[in-house]
Amino acid sequence: MISDISVIAFDADDTLWVNEPYFQETEALFCGLLEDYLPHHTVSQELFKTEMANLELYGYGIKSFMLCMIETVLRVSENTASPEVFHKVLQYGKEMLDKPIVLLDGVEDVLQALSGKYRLVVATKGDLLDQERKLRKSGLEHYFHHIEIMSDKKERDYSKLIKHLDCRPEEFLMMGNSLKSDVLPVLALGGHAIHIPYHTTWQHEHIDHTIEDPRFYQFNTMADILPHLIS
Ligand SMILES: [Mg+2]
Repeated sequence: MISDISVIAFDADDTLWVNEPYFQETEALFCGLLEDYLPHHTVSQELFKTEMANLELYGYGIKSFMLCMIETVLRVSENTASPEVFHKVLQYGKEMLDKPIVLLDGVEDVLQALSGKYRLVVATKGDLLDQERKLRKSGLEHYFHHIEIMSDKKERDYSKLIKHLDCRPEEFLMMGNSLKSDVLPVLALGGHAIHIPYHTTWQHEHIDHTIEDPRFYQFNTMADILPHLIS
């Protein structure tokens, strides 16, 4: 049992529901769109470069991704791409914003089992409007005591959240698919963190070291956590 926890916070994208595969599908279409200029993997690298250069300015989410695609078209085509290309990029983005919410296995059962026993929270980054829309569509909103849509998931962001929830870091457990965003900053603050890997992760979320911490746990699926949180 993981003891003395009062708040359990869940990451949303690729923890509660499918997200990264939609970005990868769109990126594949985008690379196809620019294949007259550069090979797919090079376009993909150029897009990632644009995203990293704009992260501070734009933050995370689909709208930022759309702006980064547009900027990459301009650079890769040396300002010669036709209006149809930009039209396509906007269409790809709008289609992403309109994707259905596909819950990951076991999510609803786990929330059901934990609700009433812990304060459940969503802690996610991304576009405010888009994340609100996804939560509404997910039908999961009623399980959560609090929903925090964060512009980033660094130590200072979690520190603010933990303060806002009026709990001690030792009572706070964060669960998510990203070691970089969901695990490391929470452990650094003295909280607990559960990593549930998803089959695919955005390049930006990768870390290249292993984590040794008594407050760190790793499980294959969401359902595996229940025996550790419910006696
Ligand atoms: Mg995630």
